[in-house]
Amino acid sequence: PDVPLTQFLVDSANDFPQNEAIYFLGKSITFKQLLDDVYRFANSLKELGVKKGDRVGIMLPNSPQAVIAYYATLFVGGVVVQINPLYVERELEHQLQDSGTETLVCLDLLYPRVEKVRPGTQLKNLIVTSVKDYLPFPKNWLYPLTLRKDGIKVNVPKADDIFSFKSLIQKTLPTPVTVPYESGNDLALLQYTGGTTGLAKGAMLSHRNLIVNAIQAANWLNATDRDGQSSVVGALPFFHVYGMTVVMNFAMLIGATMLLVPKFDVKEILDMIEKKRPTFFPGAPTMYVGLINYPKIKDYDLSSVKACISGSAPLPLDVQQKFEEITGGFLVEGFGMTETSPVTHCNLIWNRERSGTIGLPWPDTDARIVDPETKEELPIGETGELMVKGPQVMQGYWNRPEDTKKTINEEGWLSTGDMARTDEDGYFFIMDRKKDMIIAGGFNIYPREVEEVLFEHPAIQEAAVVGVPDPYRGETVKATIVLKEAEHITEEELDQFCREKLAKYKVPRIYEFRKELPKTAVGKVLRRVIQEEAVEQMK
Ligand code: ATP
Ligand code: MG
Repeated sequence: PDVPLTQFLVDSANDFPQNEAIYFLGKSITFKQLLDDVYRFANSLKELGVKKGDRVGIMLPNSPQAVIAYYATLFVGGVVVQINPLYVERELEHQLQDSGTETLVCLDLLYPRVEKVRPGTQLKNLIVTSVKDYLPFPKNWLYPLTLRKDGIKVNVPKADDIFSFKSLIQKTLPTPVTVPYESGNDLALLQYTGGTTGLAKGAMLSHRNLIVNAIQAANWLNATDRDGQSSVVGALPFFHVYGMTVVMNFAMLIGATMLLVPKFDVKEILDMIEKKRPTFFPGAPTMYVGLINYPKIKDYDLSSVKACISGSAPLPLDVQQKFEEITGGFLVEGFGMTETSPVTHCNLIWNRERSGTIGLPWPDTDARIVDPETKEELPIGETGELMVKGPQVMQGYWNRPEDTKKTINEEGWLSTGDMARTDEDGYFFIMDRKKDMIIAGGFNIYPREVEEVLFEHPAIQEAAVVGVPDPYRGETVKATIVLKEAEHITEEELDQFCREKLAKYKVPRIYEFRKELPKTAVGKVLRRVIQEEAVEQMK
């Protein structure tokens, strides 16, 4: 049906007015209250002059304010621009400028950063929310948001163009708002890509793109009965497309409670799962790794968790198995990207034989493997670039017609930039990103394959493999390793271990041990950063 994305919230508020819509650090908001506050905020946005097509930035950690600002913007026909609250000035300025954001909702703690970049942007209105405004944040949740451990006191000046979130909500009535809506093609979001490989680009996602992907998720997870009994762990950040669709919009669609987690802390999450007994827990592999390695994990009852999708990076088999043992639920790997709202593929929840693959394309989604240069389709079993087509594919990159043309062809097929292959039954295997492929002595090496071997070693918690310049081989393989607590291992032992499991040319020639790996907001290892540092070190 051609309805705006806000319909999910309206329907849930009609069907379950008194159910918990949001649970946030010990406090709750019902669907009725949530819809009322969304209407209040939408009416305030209208008063500030926000109209159809205007960009509204949201720079908040997972919080009731983030949910309210998101749906309220859509109610007035605005275009949401999600901004990672950890972004430093350079990244923030780029995103504000590039998107032409005129209204920004941010946490008061982030104000100093916004003020610094403001002169170079088109910002007209700033809506600031205090950590104490809505449901209080405990102090220990504030770092790393402030980016400095001391600075949690921030003075936001009084000015005509700076508004308080709290007073906007308090002084406005919850008069229902009708979305100025034409069709499913109306732009809902400019969702910036993860920035894993370079400068973030704004993917234009429509109402239809987002509605479709949430419905596909609900169907795939058998979550369509809307019994008003389910809840979803909201540990993935909502400013990232994955948490936004697979937690927030999905929960709204099925009328489930969102359990908001503003910062990933293993113990807090385990306590919350035990107390709130959630059904769904979408996450990223690094989150599940953190949980299964928690020393007291066996003391927790996690049996409420029925189904989880892991996405954004490869899910190691051993992590899947351990997590399923601990919870008794399903954990399946999916695949997606910002440009596709995000999910295109997922494994079947009852089928363990295909673990290690990203499963099948979702209903209504087509996928094929092509030669990365000529874009000709390749025979089954051969590795090439993954292309996808479906109702979740973005409309294009904002203000980048050249990039759009390079990425989406005339028939609507999107080039993912990921190397993959299929088996006889149509299951897809992701090899790695085209850009991350290492070419050493003429051989193609996919870092992921080497990382998986390293990961099998019992002393290793995490590993990242990159190519570094080498005078003889062009590039050579370097592994950066994080050991589990209290473990020790030598380079010789690791070399021995890898030689048994990998062809010689794939075996790392350089090792580095670290306490942690640099990661993006969804916990994706930043190979680009590791690679740049490795090149620096070699100079
Ligand atoms: P940028 O495009 O700005 O460099 P990004 O590609 O990391 O950043 P996202 O759109 O968040 O930004 O991530 C999509 C990418 O994540 C995919 O193209 C793919 O490389 C990777 N990915 C997602 N799911 C999986 C998975 N299950 N296995 C392996 N890689 C995955
Ligand atoms: Mg990308």
